[in-house]
Amino acid sequence: MNALPWLATAQQSIQAAVQADRLPHALLIHEDAGAGGLELARWTSQLLLCRDRPRAPCGACPDCQWVLAGQHPDCMSVQPEGKSRQILVDQIRTAVAELRLTGHSGRAKIAVFAPAEAINANAANALLKTLEEPTPSTLLILITAQPSRLLATIRSRCLTLRVAAPARAEAIEWLTQSRGAGPWEAALDALNTGPLSLTEVDPAAIAATRRQVIEQLGQLEQQAVEPPALAEQWAKDELELRLACTESWVTDQILTLAAAHADPTELRHRHYSPAGSWALNIGRLLEFHGAVRELRALMHTSVNKSLAVESLLWRWAQVRTR
Ligand SMILES: [Zn+2]
Repeated sequence: MNALPWLATAQQSIQAAVQADRLPHALLIHEDAGAGGLELARWTSQLLLCRDRPRAPCGACPDCQWVLAGQHPDCMSVQPEGKSRQILVDQIRTAVAELRLTGHSGRAKIAVFAPAEAINANAANALLKTLEEPTPSTLLILITAQPSRLLATIRSRCLTLRVAAPARAEAIEWLTQSRGAGPWEAALDALNTGPLSLTEVDPAAIAATRRQVIEQLGQLEQQAVEPPALAEQWAKDELELRLACTESWVTDQILTLAAAHADPTELRHRHYSPAGSWALNIGRLLEFHGAVRELRALMHTSVNKSLAVESLLWRWAQVRTR
């Protein structure tokens, strides 16, 4: 994978802290989705574990290679397990016990928790104890796109590093260099995310799905299709992608409306606009946007997806007609 130029500032501050021997025991990487939080954690692990110290991270020595392959004995990765999709207290205990052992490399012991908001309440309390009494030469790296979902006491014990998604042009340039030409802009628009989320997808397929979703929402509005029929179709095929496309498209509509009505008083009053002027009704669009996000968050649960999508599509039909 090509280097990620937008990580340079964060990398420089980590490098400077290491050189001054001031790297704290815990880093909190606050990333935008798809911006490369894991890549920064990997780079940091290589920096600490690389055996070619003057050139660290060299990227070529066995330690750097093992980190890259996710197989370094001194670099643990702690991720959600099982159906709960949470990081559980036993996982924290295992990781902490491992951190206390003598390292293979003798340079550092690292544990990476991602996504950190998946750490459940019991596990967070166990982690907090470790943060309060750190073991020498250990580094905890927490990666999250939603730091507000972590305990304030955990956040306050970490050095926070912000990894913002690169500007659109930079993201497209990076994707074109690493993956070749493609409709990257449309794919980025559809998923509303940073370029790292697109390293293994077909951008043309995503762009096509987005076009289809927009068309189908239009058909619902014109009552050319009924919500149950469309819901059945969506539930069977790429539902998560379709919901992502729906969310990004509704976001675009809201932004367009907000930009067209720079006077906030006008926008506020549009909530009460008469039937037929739905297009100005930003309040209803915001409500619908919230409903799409809620449903996306339920995709990994046992919720009845056909029914849930059908109820969402009925809502869309109403946004347009109320
Ligand atoms: Zn190396």
